[in-house]
Amino acid sequence: MSEAKMKYDWDDAKSCYEAGMFYFTNEERNRDKINKGINLLKQACKLGSPEASFMMGKLVWEGYIDIKKPGARNEAMKLLFYAASQGEVQARVLLNEICNVRYREKFEETYGQEAVTGPLKDFNGEEIKIKCKGLRTPIDAVLTYENGKNVLTFRADVSIISAGTGRPSDEVCQAILSGIQDWAGEYTVFGGQQLTVVVDLEENVKLFDVLDVFIMDEGTKQLMRQVAERVDVLSGGNASKNVNAMIKSNRSFAAMNKEWKVKGKKTIFIRCKENEIENYEHIRGVARHEFGHILGLGDLYYEEAKGFDGVEKGTYDELDPYHITDKIYHLAMCDNHGTISNNDIEMIVLAFSENAVQNYQPTSWNYEVSEALGKGN
Ligand SMILES: [Zn+2]
Repeated sequence: MSEAKMKYDWDDAKSCYEAGMFYFTNEERNRDKINKGINLLKQACKLGSPEASFMMGKLVWEGYIDIKKPGARNEAMKLLFYAASQGEVQARVLLNEICNVRYREKFEETYGQEAVTGPLKDFNGEEIKIKCKGLRTPIDAVLTYENGKNVLTFRADVSIISAGTGRPSDEVCQAILSGIQDWAGEYTVFGGQQLTVVVDLEENVKLFDVLDVFIMDEGTKQLMRQVAERVDVLSGGNASKNVNAMIKSNRSFAAMNKEWKVKGKKTIFIRCKENEIENYEHIRGVARHEFGHILGLGDLYYEEAKGFDGVEKGTYDELDPYHITDKIYHLAMCDNHGTISNNDIEMIVLAFSENAVQNYQPTSWNYEVSEALGKGN
């Protein structure tokens, strides 16, 4: 396509993005054409194009577009963050990379140290023991030390349910399982000790000790309302009121007994808008976040209305490399369902070894902040 023949609509994000990219990839590009391309990409960003936001973010971050004003890199982060939150996979990958590099730079000294060996020890040098199995334990957690390696294995039967369609599509199930599986990996915890996390899942419909994942489609909501109404008739409580409030809140969430304990029923409700139900990355992110709750983590939200104070940049060394903007961090337990850090894993180890929820911030209901925060690494 020649430049003269190209038509683009300044009010259409996709059209602006494609035209902008044309100038970039055109073989005869020169500074003038590149500037035209940049202007089109900027326009596409304004119109909310996630692809353009990713491209602009990447170009600014990598210094290809030289923005003189201070804070240009922050602007780039914001653009990448927006693109990632819209399901742009490449933007998420780049954000993960940027945050991981910043984290490693910050803790190079810790990583540079001689490797710490032996069974996993906590901040006081006490050996950590985790052996959670058996009745009413939906997530088995076992910490082993073999051949010089610490391995924390989580095992769960997962039952994915949609009252509307029975079992949701394979793609939705796969997205949920991969979000849970994201917690597996190699981590460095408690001052330079290596820990391998294994997540062993099986899709199973069982009555007990199973992690139920409900897809909140119309059928599920209908069923929940009916059950609640029946409970109210039988017990005179306000189950209907609670269920309706929950359905209205438009959020995914994890449900536990009154407070998080290793033992006790655990359920995830995946709430998706109609246009998001087939968005693989979105569902995967939601599942990753909600499984964090199932593993005993609190939220890292900026939501004063919900009783959270929010965590300011500069509060905890180990969270700062993941800080993006305002009180938002690119972390799994944040609103944008970002990546998983060493610190998250440290907190999970504490949750299971101490049988207590681990919080990032005090809340109006006065939970303490996890001991893992502010310890570095
Ligand atoms: Zn949450």
